[in-house]
Amino acid sequence: MKKIHNRICGFLSAVCLIAGTLIPGQPVCAADRVQSVGEEIVIVIDPGHGGSNKGTQSGHTIEKEMTMVTAMTMYQELEKYDNVKVYLTHTDDRDMSLKERAEFAAGVGADFMFSIHYNASENHSMYGSEVWISCEKPYNAYGYQFGYLHLQAMQEKGLFIRGVKNRMNDEGTDYYGVIREAAALSVPALIIEHCYVDEERDADYIQNEEGFAEFGRIDALSVAKYFGLKSSSLGVDYSEEATKLQPASADSLVQYTLMDKTDPDVCEIELRECDYDTGEVQLTVRAADYDTPLIYYDYSIDNGQNWSRLESWPGSNALTWEYTDTFQLDLTIPGGVRPNIILRAYNLADLYTRSNTLSFEQAIARHTESDAKPDSEENGEPEEIIPAAAPIDHTRKSIGTTTFMPTVDEIGEEDATVGVLTFLKLCLAFVIVLFFIVLTTQFVNYRKRWNRRHRR
Ligand SMILES: [Zn+2]
Repeated sequence: MKKIHNRICGFLSAVCLIAGTLIPGQPVCAADRVQSVGEEIVIVIDPGHGGSNKGTQSGHTIEKEMTMVTAMTMYQELEKYDNVKVYLTHTDDRDMSLKERAEFAAGVGADFMFSIHYNASENHSMYGSEVWISCEKPYNAYGYQFGYLHLQAMQEKGLFIRGVKNRMNDEGTDYYGVIREAAALSVPALIIEHCYVDEERDADYIQNEEGFAEFGRIDALSVAKYFGLKSSSLGVDYSEEATKLQPASADSLVQYTLMDKTDPDVCEIELRECDYDTGEVQLTVRAADYDTPLIYYDYSIDNGQNWSRLESWPGSNALTWEYTDTFQLDLTIPGGVRPNIILRAYNLADLYTRSNTLSFEQAIARHTESDAKPDSEENGEPEEIIPAAAPIDHTRKSIGTTTFMPTVDEIGEEDATVGVLTFLKLCLAFVIVLFFIVLTTQFVNYRKRWNRRHRR
């Protein structure tokens, strides 16, 4: 009976998956968890780093300490559920290789290993939350279903979402060691990169230990929902949640997790309006990536010498792969600056494409009310370029359509629509031609009869 139920569910999931990819932007219907588990669920939590491996560091914040607080809280939360066994790969501050972590998880018969991390970027510019999963079947599907559920929770908390992704090395196996080593021992594993420790927008979430602990509670809740756990002490039952996951199949890799290796395909800016007195500049930004969604942009007003901080791309959703392809960007350029504006569009793999440069004929007038930098009015040369790193007022609004990444099926669908239209047009032309032939024949016949009658 269970087998038949599973088959029906599997079939429905497949139907949902196809419907979801054919109807752009439509929310796909819920699906059962692909991963099957026994009566008792074994969860391994891996606090990232430890010992001499400190992880990333920002000010007084050391990653190995942050991950331990998050992992400990996650452990305590998950302990409250029934029929679950929870382990930590380590509880003390020690060196532990990625292989040792995977071996520990395999040793206790883990159903899943969750590796806890915090992020940092080279230019301290990135922000947001992401989940790294395996590129191997069926762990890719398992990771995607958990990652989607978890990042939705992170999104609700207000974090920017950077997607559920996988990264391969040159050998075509998982780039991240803990995932690769675990997969080699048949243990599903993933990495949760909660947020960036070196960016102001994410820093708000990790001001103190309570911030790290809060992430531990969110992680635990996602695990409870993914496995459909119950807790008699908490009086909760998440068994329904495990049937509301994103459709995925154990036999294939999830398209939304496949990483982009190329820069965005289109990025151009166009001047709509410029007020040289106030410095108010309106731009139209057009960009597209045919593989993954666009997630960030930044811009420069001094020909690429200085760049603004990264901003989230309008309409960007790294879970549904939607983004707006055209938007209006309003900038207020400080007085005395002759702008040379460039914009960069970033895709899901953090690869960017530079736009054309918009060079202005003259400088923005000085001594205006809306001058963003009043202290720059009194000094400097008339044509001095003020760095774009100085705060520039900007607003933007979407004027384009939401673009959804086309899948192979969708492209087929589009072609089919074009085919039907062409066929209908041909039919109409044929009917018109037929009508004229009939009309002409009738007319000729009438003339013949008329002539015969008049000859008599
Ligand atoms: Zn880390």
